[in-house]
Amino acid sequence: MAGHNFLFVPGPSNVPNRVLRAMAVPMEDHRSVKFPQLTREILAGLKRIFKTETASPILFPSSGTGCWEAALTNCLNPGDRVLASRFGQFSHLWCDMGQRLGFDMNILEVEWGEGTPTERYRAALEADTEHHIKAVLVCQNETATGVTSDIAAIRQVLNDTGHPALLFVDSVSALGSIDFRMDEWGVDVCVAGSQKGLMLPAGLGVTCVSQKAQEAAKNSRHPRCYFDYQDMIKSNGTGYFPYTPSIPMLYGLKESLTMIEEEGLENVFARHRYLAEGVRAAVQQGWKLSLCAKSPHWYSDSVSAIVVPEGFNAAQVIERAFRRYNLALGTGLSKVAGKVFRIGHLGDLNELMLMAAIAGAEMSMLDCGIPVTPGSGVAAASEYWRTHQAPAALGGMA
Ligand SMILES: *Cc1c(COP(=O)(O)O)cnc(C)c1O
Repeated sequence: MAGHNFLFVPGPSNVPNRVLRAMAVPMEDHRSVKFPQLTREILAGLKRIFKTETASPILFPSSGTGCWEAALTNCLNPGDRVLASRFGQFSHLWCDMGQRLGFDMNILEVEWGEGTPTERYRAALEADTEHHIKAVLVCQNETATGVTSDIAAIRQVLNDTGHPALLFVDSVSALGSIDFRMDEWGVDVCVAGSQKGLMLPAGLGVTCVSQKAQEAAKNSRHPRCYFDYQDMIKSNGTGYFPYTPSIPMLYGLKESLTMIEEEGLENVFARHRYLAEGVRAAVQQGWKLSLCAKSPHWYSDSVSAIVVPEGFNAAQVIERAFRRYNLALGTGLSKVAGKVFRIGHLGDLNELMLMAAIAGAEMSMLDCGIPVTPGSGVAAASEYWRTHQAPAALGGMA
């Protein structure tokens, strides 16, 4: 096919050329005397991304899923009770993992399209007067439905009820795109990955572990070895890794952290909000379609799940977009398969890149017989972006 592929799945996101070039390096000795400089620079950069002074960032040679497992097996004891909620494929998979690892999962079932049910967490924690619940799981950004939850509100509930449970947050599709505050929100383990907001290929599990979680890990008897926090933290303390790290991924991460710092983390969030609003204008004002997210306070700034009208199959739209227009849209997962397609709007993006996704999705929907008005999505996004102040990184005036 001529031209390039337009990658708009919500991870892996587009890897900037700067990062690709930074990754094209010869291999080097990861036990050399100069290696600790790289480790220290990256870990310090990650602390700023996680917004923490006291917690320890950790890089595992895995994807985000490995960090889910590390959180459960490092900080808990076999069979411990865990409170979680399920409202999409990713919150589901973490619950499923907890069950498969033998934890006593108390799962709050929530309609897909809504987010973390704060008041039901409160009720469950209030009722747990003997503190059997050892950890609370929250998915900050449910990538399957495009729903963002309020992590600060869950911390508030833990504080209000005086409950000592650890707070584990899945920020895989939020970190580096949507605000996350490790220290301020009292998060004990944050789970993320390299291939979403951090603009890298998949291959690094990026996680961060509070002092409280590290204490819990010391008392945990759950079997683990490769994903042991203590091994990693001890080795990182000397500037090294307990086993061979991926050299290209480390150089790539160093570059992506530099890019984020050059733009400014808060500006990165503002750019994601501004771009997401344009996509939402295309969906709602342009196409007159609905988002899977049920109300504006759930809307995600890193991914939109768009519901196709009754009687149409979203999978056909996705297939048409890929085969005919070289555009990769995100598929509907599990319960919403065939009902939604997703546009990932995270990472290294600007308005006109997103225009390609909006135009391509629109052409594909028309090809599949979905009665949207030709040009309406692009017109609505254009109207939004032209009439709102653009972030500096997109050429807007400061
Ligand atoms: C992508 C994603 C994951 C899974 O991460 P992998 O890197 O694919 O293992 C987990 N949670 C959320 C919210 C995600 O978006």
